[in-house]
Amino acid sequence: MTRIALVTGGMGGLGEAVCIKLATLGYRVVTTYSPGNTKAQEWLAAMGKLDHDFSAFPCDVANYDSAQQCVAQVQKDIGPIDVLVNNAGITRDMSFKKMDKLNWDAVMHTNLDSVFNMTKPVCDGMVERGWGRIINISSINGQKGAFGQTNYSAAKAGMHGFTKALALEVARKAVTVNTISPGYIGTKMVMAIPQEVLDSKIISQIPMARLGKPEEVAGLVAYLASDEAAFLTGANIAINGGQHMY
Ligand code: NDP
Repeated sequence: MTRIALVTGGMGGLGEAVCIKLATLGYRVVTTYSPGNTKAQEWLAAMGKLDHDFSAFPCDVANYDSAQQCVAQVQKDIGPIDVLVNNAGITRDMSFKKMDKLNWDAVMHTNLDSVFNMTKPVCDGMVERGWGRIINISSINGQKGAFGQTNYSAAKAGMHGFTKALALEVARKAVTVNTISPGYIGTKMVMAIPQEVLDSKIISQIPMARLGKPEEVAGLVAYLASDEAAFLTGANIAINGGQHMY
């Protein structure tokens, strides 16, 4: 039986690695992209050349109706979703003094409301079928906070509460809900930070003295999605090169 995995934001740095890993393991992988993303077809063509047969659906994860329509379309065209990876996210960093409602809302809607928006139409089916995996991609900064990220840290920390509460509700039906909190991973989101800031403020704080690799996070997603991880639920797993431990 081929399992279907839906990865939000699968065309981004981390999401792409997750899509490739799951596809390599034999999942039927479906990803979402922002309705405004003009490079989606290009991405699908590039993945096709690598022999990965992905499907992609437009979806604004921050918008409840868009998420419901997207999931309904995926289920109609591809089938019921066994694994949901809530990965799409954005940053809008600024000190709290400068933080305005627009940038607060954008991050809360995209990073936290999205988890509700996508999980809502998927979860009941998992419960009915008696198997499911919900994997939420949070962040080290949801655990420890970060200067200039009151919005992002709040949204990512919110994911942890959501994860633990939902894990309790669906545990008896063999549906697991977990959060992964990556540290700094070498994707576009992080490479946009000026090199001198990366070196002096970030890499210098990582005991392993390097950024993480998207493939390292993807490997953890694959484990949480697997049958072997059936007893692991309500957890938050940090993957950060030793930068933050608790
Ligand atoms: P990217 O910016 O490379 O990718 C983000 C993805 O999110 C894109 O594919 C984008 O899709 C999608 N996205 C953003 N807004 C929306 C929206 N409204 N609707 C649908 N899709 C949307 O970031 P990363 O790959 O680095 O990050 C992935 C996740 O990992 C994020 O949640 C991030 O917070 C988290 N994370 C990343 C870390 C890192 O070091 N990189 C560290 C800790 C956590 P599109 O391009 O189509 O707009």
